[in-house]
Amino acid sequence: MADRYAVIGHPVAHSKSPWIHAEFSRATGQVIDYQRIEAPLDGFARIVDEFRAAGGCGANVTLPFKDQAFLYCRNAVTERARAVGVVNTLIFENDAVRGDNTDGVGLLRDITVNLGRAIAGKRVLLMGAGGAAQGVLGPLLAAAPQRLVVANRTGSKARALAQRYGAAAGGGYEEFAGERFDLVINATSAGLAGEAPRLPAGAFAPGALAYDMVYGRDTPFLAMARAAGAEACDGTGMLVEQAAESFLLWRGLRPDTAPVLAALRRR
Ligand code: NAP
Repeated sequence: MADRYAVIGHPVAHSKSPWIHAEFSRATGQVIDYQRIEAPLDGFARIVDEFRAAGGCGANVTLPFKDQAFLYCRNAVTERARAVGVVNTLIFENDAVRGDNTDGVGLLRDITVNLGRAIAGKRVLLMGAGGAAQGVLGPLLAAAPQRLVVANRTGSKARALAQRYGAAAGGGYEEFAGERFDLVINATSAGLAGEAPRLPAGAFAPGALAYDMVYGRDTPFLAMARAAGAEACDGTGMLVEQAAESFLLWRGLRPDTAPVLAALRRR
């Protein structure tokens, strides 16, 4: 019987992870079965318990359960998951469970490898202060940007997030009016509602890259960025790269992401 994996979220019907992992499975010859599981908002731990009891080998965790997944692991988390405080990958080993976070490495690989953009020495604006921003701020800082600003609709949340890391500045969008950035990352969910965060006018430096973590749609943020002359990219590559990193944790080998990313963009 194939080893069983799943993505657990609420909602989860839209998730492309089962398709991505089926492609990785086909390409690597690793026989796995990867399904979607929608957990009730008050039932995340019970659903994970049930999946483990039914023989599940591991799971991805998505909105809104990444912080509950961190708690579920009871401190059995990797250094990078501990640093960000949220877990998106669960590994089940006999009676034990281990948590990791592959979002940061997924974003960095997409920007630096797939898109060929440097982060070191650049001015970076990270928009949002939810689970996604939390998961990538540490890895972004580790990539040595010249300056990193976290801005959010609720400025106090961005300030608190930035203060946890010291090296970043944080606040409401208006507080950074007049600053220019080489890389602007939208880690808000605004695009899902067809909206754009209130980005300061002129935030895009010449030749800037605008990156929206929302994937599979042309968001108002990306349209605004293109109008300002920036290169615009959605989060499909991050999705595929974080999935590849989870696959590596579970199966011990990293699948080639380029063909899967190209096929996903064509779908
Ligand atoms: P979350 O914890 O619910 O946080 C949502 C964030 O978006 C908050 O900072 C919120 O600001 C902000 N926001 C929501 N609506 C807004 C609006 N209309 N204008 C301005 N800001 C708005 O969600 P999350 O887990 O951080 O996820 C954020 C997005 O990243 C999701 O769309 C998710 O799909 C995407 N994501 C993609 C990948 C990938 O692999 N591509 C991986 C992870 C996440 P307030 O604090 O003011 O409410």
